[in-house]
Amino acid sequence: MKVGIDLGTTYSAVARYDKQSNKPIMLSNSFGKEITPSVICFLDDGDILVGEDAKDMQSNGTGVNAAAFKRNMGDGSTVVSFNGKDYTAEDLSAMLLKHLISDAEAACGEKIDEAVITVPAYFEDAQRIATKRAGESCGIKVPKIINEPTAAAISYGYKHSADKTLLVYDLGGGTFDVTIVRITKGNIEVIGTHGNHILGGKDWDAAIVKYVCDKFYNEFDVDPRDDLPTKNELIVAAEGYKKTLSIAESVTIPVNYEGCSEKYTLTREEFESMTEHLMNATKDVMDELIKDLGMEWTDIDEILLVGGSTRMPGVAKFLRDFTGREVVTHSDTDLAVAKGAAITAELYSSSATGMRAAMTVTDVTAHSLGALSVSQDGTKYVNEIMIKKNSKVPSTERRKFSIKPGNMTDKIEVYTLQGESRVPLDCNVLAKVVITGFYNDGKGLIVDIEYNYDENGIVNIKAFQGEDALQVKSEPVPEDIRWMGGNPRDRPNEDKIAKNIAICVDLSRSMQGEPIEAAKDSIRRFVHTLEDEKTKFSLIGFGDKVKVVTELTGDTGVVINSIEDLKVNMLGRGTDMSPLETARSVVSSSPGVGIIVVLTDGIWGKRDRAVDQAARCRDGGIAIIAIGLGEADTSFLRQIATVDDGALFTTIDKLGDTFGTIATAITSGNMGLAVR
Ligand code: ADP
Ligand code: MG
Repeated sequence: MKVGIDLGTTYSAVARYDKQSNKPIMLSNSFGKEITPSVICFLDDGDILVGEDAKDMQSNGTGVNAAAFKRNMGDGSTVVSFNGKDYTAEDLSAMLLKHLISDAEAACGEKIDEAVITVPAYFEDAQRIATKRAGESCGIKVPKIINEPTAAAISYGYKHSADKTLLVYDLGGGTFDVTIVRITKGNIEVIGTHGNHILGGKDWDAAIVKYVCDKFYNEFDVDPRDDLPTKNELIVAAEGYKKTLSIAESVTIPVNYEGCSEKYTLTREEFESMTEHLMNATKDVMDELIKDLGMEWTDIDEILLVGGSTRMPGVAKFLRDFTGREVVTHSDTDLAVAKGAAITAELYSSSATGMRAAMTVTDVTAHSLGALSVSQDGTKYVNEIMIKKNSKVPSTERRKFSIKPGNMTDKIEVYTLQGESRVPLDCNVLAKVVITGFYNDGKGLIVDIEYNYDENGIVNIKAFQGEDALQVKSEPVPEDIRWMGGNPRDRPNEDKIAKNIAICVDLSRSMQGEPIEAAKDSIRRFVHTLEDEKTKFSLIGFGDKVKVVTELTGDTGVVINSIEDLKVNMLGRGTDMSPLETARSVVSSSPGVGIIVVLTDGIWGKRDRAVDQAARCRDGGIAIIAIGLGEADTSFLRQIATVDDGALFTTIDKLGDTFGTIATAITSGNMGLAVR
């Protein structure tokens, strides 16, 4: 059986869709109640109580209590520790869900195997994923996560078939959400959502506390708020007085502190006028959303009230006065969300094709999704928004990511950000993914990155090179992301770049004896200086012919051994290719930066061909550094070097130093190895 679950901050509820009556119905808990407190209590004897029983313990003050843990959903923090075990909000939600499911199963005598679970519209990716996982850990399928206001609108729109634009006004205990929904022929289309997540019923409670404490202080010169237990008691009591004012015209509030006591009378009228700024704050949120969507108040047909705090009569009154719109109260404010979820669960089940045809629901994103990018002038990181807030979900956006010629990188790091600010650190860094497996020949390339908000509001990333899907791997977001607030040029390069180095050694007769021995020595040291897990070497000998003595390898042992074997006249069966042509294909055979070091002591035949090959290397972003020994042709070597100051002239006894200079340049990335 499928159900809808309203997994609330303070209360939760379960409903199912009844096919006989074509209506969602509530599944009561074992106390016969339609709503269950979202509370878990850990008792000293090791027992764990959930729901109603736990709430009782909470007021007794026995055991360790966990309440309102939904606020920590998805942040991975420990909400309670008990008997050496740490519980996150996800763990606690899973325990609560298990309890809700088992009570609901008892109520209807059927096994539950699927549930649509609701979340606040402003929940971000991590919170949605955590909610889904909490459900799945109970052994049920969670085909969909749905936004609470959307669920409320569904359960309302389901009964009201007239076409209209509805503003769902959800004022809960600690949050305020507005969602604008269009209902047409039973189809529900969410147009936009916005909220203030630090505004809620608790602020009205606090207003009562302030009211009586200010009076008390004026009278007795002592402030009950100075004592934390007294203050907390007052806050809890204030909620009760507030609820009383929802039905009575006035309430009497006794205050006792430091031997002084007094009773204050608060009328509903006074209460409403001293909390008017809070009502105005909700109006600001609505105005912002309406403006953002390019709408007018006159486009709104009705305001639908949901959330416990809309039980304050002042809310409907204020809204009528200030908006001139029709204000309707959901017949069962506390159950609307669960019922909407139950309808959705039915909608999503394959057997309900008839119903699916009769009603569709589309939702929007509550936050913009962006990618970390570098600003135009290259001096800072910015949040480049890909999918705008209030886009329909599912929503997909493709962006081209270009890698410039000469950049031999084999991976792309993508950081996704959720939030409206252009400043990355003001947003929530959702995820880091690393894209690999693209073909990079150094001539520049384009990778298409696809950002997708799925219909559950969860973010997915794919990447393509042409038609080919690339590998996208998630990596944990680094703990220290302060660099996102700095200059991209200052970011320490955590990852060494892969390098493919071909060493081309002149093995013509003139190298015989001292020169070849000096070369072997210098090359050996050069290889040792540069060896690391990301660097590969190849040895190429040239003279009349060209021969790859050592294929490109990261195994320096192999390279060192073949350096010993280098001798003049070993090229007998080599090819007639130009050494640069051979080297170019060798360094391009593996992802990474291509570097060719040429050592020669003479004048080359087929120079035009070599210059032509060098140009090709330059186009491909391959660095050529030429070392001239003795009789080497200066101007020719300058022509084939592809980096600034890439032609070096030296003597046999300085050859080691010259190779050393090149090694330093390669490791430090100085001398740019930036191809001209
Ligand atoms: P949430 O979804 O944030 O858990 P609810 O929608 O259940 O919250 O609303 C809880 C809030 O509603 C609390 O601040 C509570 O004090 C307030 N509330 C509940 N009933 C009433 C009432 N009759 N009059 C005024 N406020 C109420
Ligand atoms: Mg709620």
